[in-house]
Amino acid sequence: MHNPRFSLEVFPPRRTGPVTTIYDTLDGLEGLSPDFISVTYGHGSQADRSATARIAATVAGEYHIPVVAHLTSLYADESSVEETLRAFDRAGVKSVLALRGDPVDGLEPTGVFPHASDLAAYIHGLRPDMILMGACYPECHADCASLEEDVSNLAIKVESGVSRLITQLFYDNDDFYHFMDVCRAHGIDVPVHAGIMPIISEKSVRGMARRGGSHIPARVEALLRKWGDDPDSLRSAGIVYASEQIADLVANGVDGVHLYTMNRPATTRRIWRNVSSLFSVE
Ligand code: FAD
Repeated sequence: MHNPRFSLEVFPPRRTGPVTTIYDTLDGLEGLSPDFISVTYGHGSQADRSATARIAATVAGEYHIPVVAHLTSLYADESSVEETLRAFDRAGVKSVLALRGDPVDGLEPTGVFPHASDLAAYIHGLRPDMILMGACYPECHADCASLEEDVSNLAIKVESGVSRLITQLFYDNDDFYHFMDVCRAHGIDVPVHAGIMPIISEKSVRGMARRGGSHIPARVEALLRKWGDDPDSLRSAGIVYASEQIADLVANGVDGVHLYTMNRPATTRRIWRNVSSLFSVE
């Protein structure tokens, strides 16, 4: 029986913001029963590197929801990874999303783990019991010349111990279905969660597209044109759009849906209300 997973992503509050905002987010998500919540990891100069473990401990220990901790590799070395893994252990983390991260202006990468697959292989060697996840890109990663080459690199990530993948956001499900065909052709058969990011504002959609997140299809362009200056209506239209994307994905046998909450529980709840009956919650 097809039983797709449903997962959520949150990010730690900014170093300058009140820590309690994460409780507002998690309280707002209560009752959704996701298969897991993943917590992002920041490696910029402003990032608080201990925040992921602290938020993960809250998700696992206080909200009793399985947690996945993100970890980036570009600015890490063996000892910092081992220290972070010890913090993840104390937080009750059993799964890590192994990532490369993006270069930060003025910060020289360590060169120890140039690709996410290097980090995954290192963690897999140290902790064979740790469940490893990885990121993937239905529209091809911005640094890569072709989807074929990107997916060949993705196969290395899977060979390095990654047993579940989560996609970058996309607005056109056909991009996802094509990507899945390419993955299968390269022998990648691990479950793939489709990453869905609700449309929150015109600025965020265009910003993500500029940074290589996703192209903006005509249907989304029409919503932006109609309601770009009317944030409430755009948000409502975005909730309908994301819900329809999810229904289509489930109808077409997706392994899982990963909703980028952007720490906006009200929007997440409205989408969940639309689609919850499509997922069987255990
Ligand atoms: P990689 O898998 O290393 O891929 C990066 C590029 O290198 C690709 O072009 C790939 O084709 C190429 N490549 C990979 N392996 C090889 C190889 N062995 N040989 C040659 N080329 C190779 N960023 C954060 O800072 N914090 C987060 O918490 C975070 N969470 C994310 C969650 C998801 C689901 C996604 C999709 C992205 C997330 N990101 C996060 C962003 C991510 O760090 C960036 O997209 C980054 O540019 C690539 O990371 P990656 O792990 O996919 O890198």
